[in-house]
Amino acid sequence: MPRPILATIDTQALANNLQQVRAGLQTPAALAQVAIWAVIKARGYGHGIDATVQAFASADGLAMLDFDEAVRVRELGWRGPILLLEGFFQPQDIALLQRYDLSIGIHSNEQLAMLEAAEVKQPINAFIKLNSGMHRLGFQPAEFLCAFARAQQLQKHGVLGELGKMTHLARADESLSASLQQLKIFQQLTSGLPGSVSVCNSAASLRPGFAAELRGQPQWVRPGICLYGSSPFADKSAQDLGLEPGMTLSSELISTHWVPAGAGVGYGHIFHAPQKMRIGIVACGYADGYPRHAATDTPITVAGVRTRLVGRVSMDMLAVDLSMLPDAQVGAPVVLWGRDGPSVDEVAAAAGTIGYELLTALSARVPRKLI
Ligand SMILES: *Cc1c(COP(=O)(O)O)cnc(C)c1O
Repeated sequence: MPRPILATIDTQALANNLQQVRAGLQTPAALAQVAIWAVIKARGYGHGIDATVQAFASADGLAMLDFDEAVRVRELGWRGPILLLEGFFQPQDIALLQRYDLSIGIHSNEQLAMLEAAEVKQPINAFIKLNSGMHRLGFQPAEFLCAFARAQQLQKHGVLGELGKMTHLARADESLSASLQQLKIFQQLTSGLPGSVSVCNSAASLRPGFAAELRGQPQWVRPGICLYGSSPFADKSAQDLGLEPGMTLSSELISTHWVPAGAGVGYGHIFHAPQKMRIGIVACGYADGYPRHAATDTPITVAGVRTRLVGRVSMDMLAVDLSMLPDAQVGAPVVLWGRDGPSVDEVAAAAGTIGYELLTALSARVPRKLI
């Protein structure tokens, strides 16, 4: 008999979130010509490639990092554009780009050199990436025009097809002015160059004021986390943004018992019962992807009632306070995060992390069910 833990993936919620993002970008103040790369890296932020390809059928393209994920997307019948955000890594990858018709981000001179040395029959579509201030990937401003000119040469020789320009924002979730500063650097360098632009992650896509700055240029936005019903902003919930949870992590009580006043609960006895107290044990632990750093008081829903985690999360189990659930028995349903439970962002905040980490760290041993 399997443990009762389950991750339910709601493809309708994922599809609704994509519609919600698109509607926001098409308000009069925002972008006229907008196409959406639905970002499905890290196995669709933990939701699974199959679920995301199905749910994001109306996206204009799908963006990810790994070749095996891109191949799976093609096997599932997706014929639209696929963007590999980090491009490729070795010369032998170039044959695969052609075989599976994959577009690439190009961020380094090493990648350009590999393309210059390659035999290419099918031109590869590419976005040339500028480091506009995040200082992670991308050509430095001083080398960008030279890199773009090399890419145009490759285009002339049939190695590259359509060329676009991209950059990535470091602080889109918390500073509009820092993002506008990056955008200014990007616009100054790229505005005279042909091709579409790709700038906005979730946070920038959800800020109409920012998107409006890009009016007039064909734009590919790259939302990820919001499509899964998690908020990119610390001060705005997914619900405030009209987003629905894509993943619900649920389990059941597998034990209930009373502990006397003063008793320590779980490893390290970091929680002591302030009075005689009823405790429930849930089949979910850090080996399932529930964060071990979640502290006592992290919200958790048992039989529809919001209660709290107590004590340290174990590998396979955690303890909950049943003080307000005198009748909850073994088998009572538990929602760790998602629909009818706390949001993944609330649990993440209680564990000192972000929803991205919890969703992508859901462990392989947790069965997934698509609805
Ligand atoms: C992950 C990623 C995104 C999506 O970011 P979210 O914050 O999840 O919306 C967009 N662009 C690039 C280059 C990325 O790596």
